[in-house]
Amino acid sequence: RSNTISAASILTKLQKDCATPLPVLRHVSDAMADDMRAGLATEDGSDLKMILSYVDALPTGNEKGLFYALDLGGTNFRVLRVQLGGKEERVISTEFEQVSIPPELMFGTSEELFDFIASGLAKFAQKEGGKFHLQQGRTRETGFTFSFPVKQTSIDSGILIKWTKGFAVSGTAGKDVVACLNEAMKRQELDMRVSALVNDAVGTLAGARYWDDDVMVAVILGTGTNACYVERIDAIPKLQGPSSKSGRTIVNTEWGAFSNGLPLTEFDREMDAESINPHEQIFEKTISGMYLGEIVRRVLLRMAEGAELFGHSVPEELLMPFALRTPDICAMQKDTSKDLEEVGLILYDVVGVNSCTNARKVVIDVCDTIAKRGGRLAGAGIVGILQKMEHNSKGLIFGKRTVVAMDGGLYEHYPQYRRYLQEAVTELLGPEISRNIVIEHSKDGSGIGAALLAATNSKYG
Ligand code: ADP
Repeated sequence: RSNTISAASILTKLQKDCATPLPVLRHVSDAMADDMRAGLATEDGSDLKMILSYVDALPTGNEKGLFYALDLGGTNFRVLRVQLGGKEERVISTEFEQVSIPPELMFGTSEELFDFIASGLAKFAQKEGGKFHLQQGRTRETGFTFSFPVKQTSIDSGILIKWTKGFAVSGTAGKDVVACLNEAMKRQELDMRVSALVNDAVGTLAGARYWDDDVMVAVILGTGTNACYVERIDAIPKLQGPSSKSGRTIVNTEWGAFSNGLPLTEFDREMDAESINPHEQIFEKTISGMYLGEIVRRVLLRMAEGAELFGHSVPEELLMPFALRTPDICAMQKDTSKDLEEVGLILYDVVGVNSCTNARKVVIDVCDTIAKRGGRLAGAGIVGILQKMEHNSKGLIFGKRTVVAMDGGLYEHYPQYRRYLQEAVTELLGPEISRNIVIEHSKDGSGIGAALLAATNSKYG
């Protein structure tokens, strides 16, 4: 018994360090709004880069014709075509395919990678038929969703800052990724051009806005996290040059880099110190899918070593960074049985741990503590964005219906996390205002969003 008491004291301290009572949430949402303002004022003025997307016209529903989209953001790329029929007919038809990228191409040259992508797109385009038809005299146009850090220079150009997510392709950093793709399409004799370069958050906002005019913000919660929103041009002091016709533009916050006033623990600090990017992406490391399981593993390891939570010896698997993944902690939280058998099975299968019912209860509490902090802080971040928008234009957000479009595997598959996120938003805004703020899942909006932005930004506009 004495060992569970001691694990209990580690748990109590964890819960205290991770606590997100209203004043902490309020501090985070205010700091998010302040950091957004600072990032809009000057280049490098804040943790938040507040990158201009050059998307200043969102889909209206009137778009017509055949458009393609290409989505590269991880180990797969997806291609999609859509036939748009305007206000009445809307989406007449869509087709998509997914192609996995051979691992060796993630370490090859830029030409090899883009040739592979362009040839996949060419094969897909050859199968066009049925309800899909290109208007006479036009070249096919595609949107390009590219979810790596890019310094955008116009709606259809952007310089790759660096590869992330395990890609180490030589010769792309510092180059315009649209030019890389256009050249590869030429080599593959594919007559198509890129009309819009976007990231997945911007794609999600555009995809959701097509169906709902009240969509103002989009948030991705998957392996990583990001958020974008509709901003007024005159609220962007750092913007020089011609302003947009609409007077508005989408700003990509890159909010994963936020770090102000977060309730962090010794486990977060150790994970950050041992990460490939220490001191960077602290918000992302607290709320996103890549890290929640790893934080839990570190707590359990401490409990195993310091409090013998799982008996006298510590299984080797528990020592392995990232052995416990966020889907595992989500699955454990779904177990409502008396003996927590499923929790026991997962602990045994994934980290080689034998556990008694008491130990499993502690494990569930650890998972819940980390998911709760993540979900509530993500909620506070969303409120920060809404506050910033409301501050610019009183009545723009509070007092009317506003939709926040959400996507990503973490948000989609983790119900407790979703619930905690919503609770924090409601606590911060109060019952009246939060009734008008609709936080809703927009599944795979980003693919069709990119095709819609290709239409909105068509050369034949
Ligand atoms: P990505 O962000 O890698 O482009 P997704 O949006 O599909 O792709 O998100 C995948 C991430 O979502 C995974 O890395 C994982 O962290 C999280 N995730 C996937 N399934 C679950 C699940 N069942 N429960 C909790 N999180 C999940």
